[in-house]
Amino acid sequence: MRMSKLFVQTLREFPSDAEVISHKLLVRAGFIRKLTSGVYNYLPLMWRVLKKVENIVREEMDRACAQELLMPFVQPQELWEESGRWNAYGKELMRLTDRHGRGMCLGPTHEEIITSIARDGLKSYKQLPVNLYQIQSKFRDEVRPRFGLLRGREFIMKDAYSFATSQEELEKEYKNMWDTYTRIFKRCGLETKAVQSDSGAIGGSVSHEFMVITDTDAGENDVFYCDGCDYSANSNHAVSVLPETITIGDFLSPEIKDTPNTRSIEELCEFLKIQPSIIVKTLVYIVDKKPVLALIRGDKQVEETKLLNAVGGTDIRIATAGEIDEMMSVNGFDSERGFIGPNGLNEYNGYKVEIVADNSVKELKNFVVGINQKDKHGVGYNWNKEIDLPSNITDIRLVEAGEFCPQCGKPLKVTRGIEVGNIFQLGTKYSKPMNAVYTDVDGKTKPYIMGCYGIGISRTAAAAVEAHYDEHGIKWPLAIAPYHAIVIPVSTKDELQMKVAEDLYKTLLKHGVEVVIDDRDERAGVKFKDADLIGFPYIITVGKSITNGVVEFKIRESYTSSETTPEQAAESVITAVCNLGKI
Ligand code: ATP
Ligand code: MG
Repeated sequence: MRMSKLFVQTLREFPSDAEVISHKLLVRAGFIRKLTSGVYNYLPLMWRVLKKVENIVREEMDRACAQELLMPFVQPQELWEESGRWNAYGKELMRLTDRHGRGMCLGPTHEEIITSIARDGLKSYKQLPVNLYQIQSKFRDEVRPRFGLLRGREFIMKDAYSFATSQEELEKEYKNMWDTYTRIFKRCGLETKAVQSDSGAIGGSVSHEFMVITDTDAGENDVFYCDGCDYSANSNHAVSVLPETITIGDFLSPEIKDTPNTRSIEELCEFLKIQPSIIVKTLVYIVDKKPVLALIRGDKQVEETKLLNAVGGTDIRIATAGEIDEMMSVNGFDSERGFIGPNGLNEYNGYKVEIVADNSVKELKNFVVGINQKDKHGVGYNWNKEIDLPSNITDIRLVEAGEFCPQCGKPLKVTRGIEVGNIFQLGTKYSKPMNAVYTDVDGKTKPYIMGCYGIGISRTAAAAVEAHYDEHGIKWPLAIAPYHAIVIPVSTKDELQMKVAEDLYKTLLKHGVEVVIDDRDERAGVKFKDADLIGFPYIITVGKSITNGVVEFKIRESYTSSETTPEQAAESVITAVCNLGKI
């Protein structure tokens, strides 16, 4: 490719709406342009990168004996009714109506479609296990599309689905995909950590996310991990053993105490001269439309995904002050936020108030708790004496660094991660309701035991930028770079420079190197800047010293240059390209 022909427009400045480096650099270096919120044009350089990621994924999935197919982007409502997700999936599902009034949606994921394909075609145990995958656009009407390709509304995903006859067979395929994912991300130049995770809207019991660890804002997930063993988990799934702490209050008999203006845990502790760990904190949430009270120890925070799982539903948020006031008054209290407690709050919004207690409150004795009276708290209270212990007691607690590993007891650490892939053991979540069955060896029909496995193709490309950049621009890993190398003649007017550059260009092309020659009549500084910004892994500059038979050979990743002959420079690039894919 000739730079004079390449469709690319680099910008002098970062786009003003970009917060993270991959978004900034991909726009500035001319890879993507926003069409509308969360929807991007992939310009020629980006499309080359995406195709490379896709091809690595394809090669590794094929090597793992999965088979590629392609399902439609638009899906009919009926199948989503069958699985029960038409109502259960939140607003991320983009629902449409066709001219005949039939409900449709843009595919955010394809479990329903693949399950319908399987039940038509996989009738016998003899055909199983099978793993089918596609690489395709997805649409999720994300509440906050941001970070460029990292969280788009339309994005490219590889999604695979496996069908097995037993849990054992599923686990074998799960391991196969785990190993495949490890290879894929390594080939893309990414180090990943597989962490336990919540299964979210996809469902199932066991799931792991492949995270690119980062210390930047681009890492939207908190990952807790242990240095002492292999435990690591997304915060939405992480559990911990709490350090010993005081959980028995000094108040020996129960009483209602005046606690004026103590709206926060800190104010209450200060006023009563107590530790937060002897307070039962009551938080009000709205899940879909229903009121939910979450009880947790005063020094701990609620993990909302865990709470959502404890009550079921799609959408969770903390109640507003107005909603809390209303809830108080419909239940006959004249109180407000800061003094809420579980006793006596029975209904709101036409729904019964549901109460979930975190495991951490169960062992508390002589504790302090809100009693729905303004400027008062109950102190020295005990479960099932002054106040009822809720029946729904489970883990809804957000883990904190320093708490102990559930596996080996060492203190947990926390870091941030970008989820690039996710694998799930679904079991019969879709096959049962959709009556997707095969005939087993005993002649009985049984639902398939399913797994599903996603990789964000466009997110992986953006994550690679997050992991490989410097102040000059992108440093593409060779395997997914839009081009492997660029040859820059410093002066297009210099005959010798042009001849050597053109020869080098042809030699590289002949050996299968994807190379650009910067034949533009531009200042050398402009060419160098663009080459660094776009992130060509190898940059060969043919300048004045060619009269001594040498060119400059720059490795973008390390930003180091050396003088060498044109032949040696070509040889280095050809060798590196030949070694691609060998891991
Ligand atoms: P997230 O938690 O980040 O919203 P998810 O867990 O809902 O993602 P999955 O259903 O597991 O996503 O989808 C499989 C993969 O698709 C993810 O691991 C991720 O790489 C990619 N992906 C999901 N949502 C997006 C998005 N909005 N933009 C880009 N890639 C995405
Ligand atoms: Mg996921």
